[in-house]
Amino acid sequence: GGRKPKNNKGGANYNIGLPNADKGVVTRFPPEPSGYMHIGHTKAALLNDYFANEAFDGKLIVRFDDTNPSKEKQEYEDAIIEDTKRLGIKIDHITHTSDYFKEIYEAAEKLIKLGHAYADDTDPEVQKEDRKNRLPSKCRDRPAEESLAMLKEMRDGTDLGRKHCIRARIAHDSSNGSMRDPIIYRFPNWQGKEPAPHHRTGWDWNIYPTYDFACPVVDSLEGVTHALRTTEYADRNEQYHWFLNALDIRRVNLWEFSRINFIRTFLSKRKLTKVVESGKVRGWDDPRMPTVRGILRRGLTVAALREFMLKQGPSRNVVNMDWNSLWATNKRLLDPVVPRFMAVDKENAVLAAITGGPEAPYTEERPKHAKNPDVGTKLVRFSSRILLDQVDVATFAPNEEITLMSWGNAIVKDINKDASGPIKDIGLQLNLEGDFKKTEKKVNWLAENEGKLVEAELWDFDYLITKDSLDKDDDLEDFLNPVTETMTLALCDANLADLKEGDFLQLERKGYFRVDKAKGDGPEGRMVMFKVPAGGSKQ
Ligand code: ATP
Ligand code: MG
Ligand code: MG
Repeated sequence: GGRKPKNNKGGANYNIGLPNADKGVVTRFPPEPSGYMHIGHTKAALLNDYFANEAFDGKLIVRFDDTNPSKEKQEYEDAIIEDTKRLGIKIDHITHTSDYFKEIYEAAEKLIKLGHAYADDTDPEVQKEDRKNRLPSKCRDRPAEESLAMLKEMRDGTDLGRKHCIRARIAHDSSNGSMRDPIIYRFPNWQGKEPAPHHRTGWDWNIYPTYDFACPVVDSLEGVTHALRTTEYADRNEQYHWFLNALDIRRVNLWEFSRINFIRTFLSKRKLTKVVESGKVRGWDDPRMPTVRGILRRGLTVAALREFMLKQGPSRNVVNMDWNSLWATNKRLLDPVVPRFMAVDKENAVLAAITGGPEAPYTEERPKHAKNPDVGTKLVRFSSRILLDQVDVATFAPNEEITLMSWGNAIVKDINKDASGPIKDIGLQLNLEGDFKKTEKKVNWLAENEGKLVEAELWDFDYLITKDSLDKDDDLEDFLNPVTETMTLALCDANLADLKEGDFLQLERKGYFRVDKAKGDGPEGRMVMFKVPAGGSKQ
């Protein structure tokens, strides 16, 4: 890894600086493999990737923080790696805290020998009270040999060992609560469940290091130069540095960023699992889920996510972001490059018979994007029988001049409708000399096409909850949004038959969509498209 910034745009682009980066940059993203990656994690992952691979010519380690065997699974590890790839993140190494269990154990032994840690069998409740009252543990001055012997008992999982934990001997009376002799080794909390083997080390270890202890030790051992942490760990920075000093191992810079939350969105693994298991959503990749899979499937682009997250930079404010600003970033990137097509609502299409139009249907090559020729061309079909949207036709007055998009003006003639029912068909008199600047209504339309129009399901989604921010005590069930998806059937331009899953498009006057299932792959062979929120005042 080089020492210089990789390009001089890096950093300046987003106004994020990294102190002490002159001797090289190694960052790490430390997910716990206990769930799927969600939008909050992407901020951490993208910032780490930015420093390692964009602003500097450094390295990024993905380190699974696997010190909690009751929650962790290989399946989650695999999913997290896949998701970092989806995000275009370049990983240099994949490691595990468990790869260092031996070294971390030895570090604990070293601390004990140096008089910096001790084995404690104080009742957890008493320990908590003592910590609150800044009182020393009765075991605080235990001889090192005794604590070392107890560490061994713990490791062996003996009955005596099971009554103990290992605590760092820092300062029981510190004004900083995290310095009051924190626990560094403990037995896992099985939370009432049967003990389970660690998904990588099996039954090798009965005890596991706490995150607070493992993190500085492994950061130092792995050559991490800059450890990025969310601001709620700020109180623990002092403790982090204390461990490195006490062990006298390579020092690491800490760099803080704020946790990100979004309105009407919950990120807790427990709640996310609940909506998946209850069937409220169709899985972890459901477009209503704030998981990486969900948001990308909904139509968020990686470029927009990256720009949005990096723009938050080193801001210290923990905010409840509005999805609209993220979707607006996305739209700004999509709009100039996605092809445009026309479609009409299938159930309410109105047939228009055109006079003065073509004798026989014909096709003409037209740009897929009026302002960007790079998007390519499509064949547009013109015919004297076209379909319009009922909502548009309902506003037409007799003899009104309207504009058929990408064709020209027409004058409304006969409007056939029952007294109360919808309009069945209308007559239009083509008026290609007419000035489209003078018409008030520019409408989308589609030529009848002998069964070749593509039938598509257009899905639109809403937030899963009705409250901007769930409080800790709120019951998820009380705030679940009853209706979170709607679907309409559309008849679309035959050109859509060429689109593949994951393609983006704009349907004129209907919005941006992401193809979830290509033609032939959805229910009854229909195409399936998800509406991409455009980020206006209402999404
Ligand atoms: P934490 O350990 O911070 O409570 P977590 O348990 O939800 O997060 P982890 O897998 O431990 O998830 O997190 C991996 C990384 O992502 C950590 O660096 C963590 O701080 C960061 N992270 C998690 N949630 C958010 C969020 N909402 N905003 C920003 N970063 C986050
Ligand atoms: Mg965690
Ligand atoms: Mg957490």
